[in-house]
Amino acid sequence: MSTGDPHGEAVAASSRWQSLSAGRDSSPKRIDEFYACDVFDQRKMRERLPKNTFQAIIKTIESNSKFSTDDAEVIATAMKDWAVERGATHYTHWFQPMTGLTAEKHDSLVTPDGNGGVMYRLSGSNLIQGEPDASSFPSGGLRATFEARGYTAWDPTSPAFIVRGKNYATLCIPTAFVSWNGEALDKKTPLLRSIDALEKQAMRILKIFGTDFGVNSVGSTLGAEQEYFLVDRNLYFARPDLVSCGRTLFGLVPPKHQQLDDHYFGSIPPRVNAFMAEFEEELFRLGVPVQTRHNEVAPGQYEIAPLFESTNIACDHQAILMETLKKVAGRFGFFACLHEKPFAGVNGSGKHNNWALSTDTGVNLLDPQDETHTNTQFMTFLCAVIRAVHIHGDLLRATIAGASNDHRLGANEAPPAIISIFLGDMLTDLIDQLESGKPNRTLKGGELDLGARTLPALKRDSGDRNRTSPFAFTGNRFEFRAVGSTASVAWPNTVINTIVAESLDFIATNVEKSLSEDAKPEKRDQVVRKVLQGLIKEHKAIIFNGDNYAADWQDEAAKRGLPNLKTTADALPALQSSKVKTLFKKYKVLSNTELESRSEIFAEKYITEISIEAEQMASMARTMIMPAAIKHQRNIAEAVGATEGVGVDSSVLRGELEDFVEMVCVLKDRIESLEEVRIIADGQTMMQCEYCRDQIVPAMESLREIGDQLEAHVEAELWPMPVYSQLLTLR
Ligand code: ADP
Ligand code: MG
Repeated sequence: MSTGDPHGEAVAASSRWQSLSAGRDSSPKRIDEFYACDVFDQRKMRERLPKNTFQAIIKTIESNSKFSTDDAEVIATAMKDWAVERGATHYTHWFQPMTGLTAEKHDSLVTPDGNGGVMYRLSGSNLIQGEPDASSFPSGGLRATFEARGYTAWDPTSPAFIVRGKNYATLCIPTAFVSWNGEALDKKTPLLRSIDALEKQAMRILKIFGTDFGVNSVGSTLGAEQEYFLVDRNLYFARPDLVSCGRTLFGLVPPKHQQLDDHYFGSIPPRVNAFMAEFEEELFRLGVPVQTRHNEVAPGQYEIAPLFESTNIACDHQAILMETLKKVAGRFGFFACLHEKPFAGVNGSGKHNNWALSTDTGVNLLDPQDETHTNTQFMTFLCAVIRAVHIHGDLLRATIAGASNDHRLGANEAPPAIISIFLGDMLTDLIDQLESGKPNRTLKGGELDLGARTLPALKRDSGDRNRTSPFAFTGNRFEFRAVGSTASVAWPNTVINTIVAESLDFIATNVEKSLSEDAKPEKRDQVVRKVLQGLIKEHKAIIFNGDNYAADWQDEAAKRGLPNLKTTADALPALQSSKVKTLFKKYKVLSNTELESRSEIFAEKYITEISIEAEQMASMARTMIMPAAIKHQRNIAEAVGATEGVGVDSSVLRGELEDFVEMVCVLKDRIESLEEVRIIADGQTMMQCEYCRDQIVPAMESLREIGDQLEAHVEAELWPMPVYSQLLTLR
């Protein structure tokens, strides 16, 4: 493959951008003037719908009641009028199949009017239900290709939006995607079911405390921080591994990378900042509120954090965010790389899943407030999470498993594969008090005196942060930090919602058993504390406030009986356990067949990704690295010949040649070994996963080792692909 001079092209692309941007109006736009202008949200529905239709749809959103076909007709027309005014020509039922990406099939809003002209139309039934063929999405055995029928169903709780480009605008209607017999084929359906399950159980707890008054609904909230890399697009196209696998399969870490911590939170390069501004502008237009942008640890790595929202909308917005990120990056000559570990030797990327519980009246149920020891309701929700994570640590681990995240977990840059909870000093102290009786104090953070007269005294948090914990309490929410950067967050949140629902159910059932209707608050708190006390004794092993990267944590965790499922092949079987089947079935989130199909899909994805990588790697080694090495070998051989030809001793050079030839032989051997093992025999999927883990992955690692060694020896001019120092440096 000829790569031309990709680095030169990247420099040219970057200078083209520089000159372009020089002439651009650089003043930022006022966001309030266009915020959510491309979203058909409640504000627009109120403006455009007759009062009774608006009330019907709000009722549907708030209490899951159904609305009539007539209402659907009115809403569809209003939505269509709005979209057409904003330039839309097509609409699509937008959904999230099991690929983890989003799917869309556009239908025209335009139909002939019978009089030689055209009219715009969206019927009520077109709004509510779609029937894409969609037979090629993974279904994990839920249906065969010949049983192609799948339905999309409008999710009225997530607002429709318009995706636009230079000459197109498409109305996107968020939908759930199910099979002909109603089985979930997507990520949204189980998420919505888990939200219902969580709400039901959380309301029971509020009822116990008498705080349900005026509360219509309780749900989880989600803010998912997204890490990503930006790579020059021209360099990206010169790396077949980045193109087909999203990560580099070969590559030596340059002498200087992230050791000086000079990139982290550093000043954002202007070209990147300009990209971020346009990226965020698009998100704001789509009503995705974003909060934070910064440089991350590795060179070329960045982060965007949205403002948290209710989980269903936040999950849709996360999907929009990832799509928009990739799209806008292209305009600035970047490739946005979302892979968990694109470059060996520098940090990979994650997606910190900030999760909390909130009432529709805006009360965060995981907010400890000042005198936490008096807040039994908070302790109840906290303990429910502790129990849930302890019982289902293996499920949580399986939830975030995948070939790409395997490279990151446990590599001292992300949490290990052991799931534990960080609570911090204040809450740990509270849990200890609760275990031994009635809590009577709340540790305070106090003030920090900075020693300089002009600096203000700072209020110190009552607990520090712990960056190494996979599931950390961070003040008023839990941060599930092990989620991978490519992941759709719908699935992890489906799982968190469901396991917490189960524990809330457990607590509520036990409390209700021993509590009379007219019990006084003092008595009620006593009963609740007793249940929590038992719970803590049984589940406190999950709490770990120390360094999760430390080697001795592995031993300690084993003593505590916490699973350490290092790879996807180890983690996925958890999805087939009867504990997990019962959980999902009981809360009507996934039937046994739906769960089995998911477990099959995740396993197949792992196997397929590893096979693609193995094939890509062998091919690059054979067709790129080997020829470059041979040329280099010939150059040395010619130098030896020429040196000896003029009668000069060349024994040192000859030794060098011999060593190099040896390396080339090793390369050849390892290519052949990988080519041999990469063919996966037919068989049970779980056994194929184990085969990938035990045979293919080690063969890839050993091929990479020699490939990288050769990179360190072959003349730079001959190396057939852009190297890390080029990929990680933006110009
Ligand atoms: P850090 O990187 O320090 O953890 P960031 O500011 O980058 O913090 O991100 C914090 C994320 O947590 C944001 O997306 C924010 O919206 C989210 N968040 C804050 N409060 C809640 C909450 N109650 N529920 C869910 N997410 C929350
Ligand atoms: Mg952050």
